[in-house]
Amino acid sequence: MRKFLVVPGVVLPCLAVLPAGCSSGDDPDENPADGGIPSDVRLTPSDTDYPAVGKLDPALRNALQQAAKDARDRDVDIRITSGWRSKAYQQRLLEEGVSKYGSLAEARQYVNTPEKSTHVFGRAVDVGPTRADDWLIQHGADYGLCQAYANEMWHFELLTTPGGDCPPQLSDAAAG
Ligand SMILES: [Zn+2]
Repeated sequence: MRKFLVVPGVVLPCLAVLPAGCSSGDDPDENPADGGIPSDVRLTPSDTDYPAVGKLDPALRNALQQAAKDARDRDVDIRITSGWRSKAYQQRLLEEGVSKYGSLAEARQYVNTPEKSTHVFGRAVDVGPTRADDWLIQHGADYGLCQAYANEMWHFELLTTPGGDCPPQLSDAAAG
């Protein structure tokens, strides 16, 4: 059951008035307009109809598309589990983190503020599955892609020129 209708160039939330193909589920974290990704969707770096991918910095997206193409040749599927996020979505994630970890200071090690998160600026992606993370950790620098935080093996940013050296990782998101 889909919560959103995707037609070329547009992602529409499924409303009660819309016909078949929609369900009544309404998890705000899955709202594509905020950068959410519906749970039944597997995004690739080419799925620009979804704002999570469509609103990424074009240079980052191009690097990911190139990497995904080469990874595919090695039987590795690169999926975007989170990309661009609206400030509202990032704020919700931070609040969820505070309830999960018990304090803002603890939560900040895993979730950044809307003002600081590189996701909000379209300059970060979270990649899965683990096999894809491992591949990108090994080969990402060939495309300028680097793991930014030591405690997030899935979080990549464009931090060097293709073939360059990645800068030292920050320990966590709070160190940034
Ligand atoms: Zn991330």
